[in-house]
Amino acid sequence: MASSLVSRPHLTQRPVRAATLASATRPRLVAGALGGRCQAQAAGDLDDAHYMRRCVELARKAAGHTSPNPMVGCVIVRDGRVVGEGFHPKAGQPHAEVFALRDAGNLAENATAYVSLEPCNHYGRTPPCTEALINAKVKEVVVGMTDPNPIVASKGIEKLQGAGISVRVGVEEALCRKLNEAYIHRMLTGKAFATLRATLSMNGIITNQIGKGADQSAQGESSRLHIPSLSQEHASRAIVLADSPVTVEPAGVEVAVFRQIDLESILQLLAQRGLCSVLVDFREAGESFASLLNDFQEDKLVQKVVVEVLPFWLASDGLSNLAFGGSQSFPLKNLELRDVNGSVLLEGYV
Ligand SMILES: [Zn+2]
Repeated sequence: MASSLVSRPHLTQRPVRAATLASATRPRLVAGALGGRCQAQAAGDLDDAHYMRRCVELARKAAGHTSPNPMVGCVIVRDGRVVGEGFHPKAGQPHAEVFALRDAGNLAENATAYVSLEPCNHYGRTPPCTEALINAKVKEVVVGMTDPNPIVASKGIEKLQGAGISVRVGVEEALCRKLNEAYIHRMLTGKAFATLRATLSMNGIITNQIGKGADQSAQGESSRLHIPSLSQEHASRAIVLADSPVTVEPAGVEVAVFRQIDLESILQLLAQRGLCSVLVDFREAGESFASLLNDFQEDKLVQKVVVEVLPFWLASDGLSNLAFGGSQSFPLKNLELRDVNGSVLLEGYV
């Protein structure tokens, strides 16, 4: 039996559209990898929170494009006015602070720089942002959260303070942490951040919303997997994980063949590729999930669970069981409930 998963290096809140797997008989599941930075009251504090939320808003513009780097936004404020804005667009390009300082020009002098993640203090593919902030003569830097990356880890803050710049840390920290939860997790554990996702009807049936139109057919010794929702342009950014060789359309998609597909192998592969997160999206309940996700609970390989409940009652042949289980019952943490286009979206952390 062949089964495959598609992994895409995007980190967004949108459901993954491209992806599928299929067995010789019937498709079972889809996994898309989203391969995907950044508190207070009183007037000044409210302003701080406002500018930091703007940083996060800017950072999100690059959702799905910054991996393995975090998403970061930066706002330069002088005399109560925003004079510069920027975000990190993708790995290899300048960081958020550089764009915001360029935008501000001379107005950056004596200004306050808000940045959702601690500025870097090391030479990577770009010079350190601490240097850029110091050279621009900003008066103050407000940081959403310290960077968990050991090569940054508070060194950026120390460098700025050493240059006489006032630094405050922890404004809208929870929001900044959530923005880069996958990046933080990978920095701390070396593994991709895994989310389980399923779409259910009102009567508890897992619906196949993802990978619609994807199909797999046998062709000679290997099978062929057609993913119409995956554009040629994004093909080189997708990985199909399969337990037997498969030819994928559109061409250009990487195929990784595993003897056995399990979550540990998937997470390791993605971490090696520098991808921060994986979304395992259920198309259908089935026995095959059981082996794939066997260790999900025991080994703490999954960090987040998202369940979308559609306002539909669907026809069914019989009972349907969600296959991701485990030996223990437990409440999910930090539960969030949202209405998305008429469906109810529940998000919680393991
Ligand atoms: Zn930087």
